[in-house]
Amino acid sequence: MPYKLGEVLIPREKIAERVKALAGEISRNAERDKPLVIVGILTGAAFFLTDLVRELPEDLDVRVDFMSVASYGDGTKTSGVVRIFHDLKTNIEGKNVIVVEDIVDSGLTLSHLLGLLKGRNPSSLKVCVLLDKKERRKTEVKVDYCGFSIEDKFVVGYGLDCAGMWRHLKDIKYVIED
Ligand code: 5GP
Repeated sequence: MPYKLGEVLIPREKIAERVKALAGEISRNAERDKPLVIVGILTGAAFFLTDLVRELPEDLDVRVDFMSVASYGDGTKTSGVVRIFHDLKTNIEGKNVIVVEDIVDSGLTLSHLLGLLKGRNPSSLKVCVLLDKKERRKTEVKVDYCGFSIEDKFVVGYGLDCAGMWRHLKDIKYVIED
């Protein structure tokens, strides 16, 4: 295998602490009399999303749904044009929606996806990401809730993979070339 696991970037305790704080922010901003649809982007964000929603209070009408998308590209670069593999079951028209992503890098995938969801006329559309590589941005994406801003180094764990591996790690770790 050409890669091996490196040092821990964000330990599990820090992730848990930040996830709790993000849920607190989301809860404080949420309209109490309207459903809040949390849209997870498979597969990476599933891990973050399930921890996040369980920190939301019982009096919030929280709905959870998932989408699976892939961006077209030439193998090394994302074009940002997304193809939907699995669409939402929920009709988001007139609802408050928060899209949950594991990491935003160039922003192209998220930006295209947001355009697509906006076309379905939600009442509001916000973005919550666990990790943000701000310096890599190629298109502007408004991130409403951000777990951690990180430098441009490849990381895995807590849902993030490297060729399908290491999603199950509890900590977020660097990957190094062997
Ligand atoms: P972009 O914002 O460039 O359109 O795409 C973001 C996607 O790039 C993420 O969903 C993720 O699949 C991938 N990505 C970017 N940086 C990393 C990283 O450090 N680790 C992993 N595992 N995936 C990354």
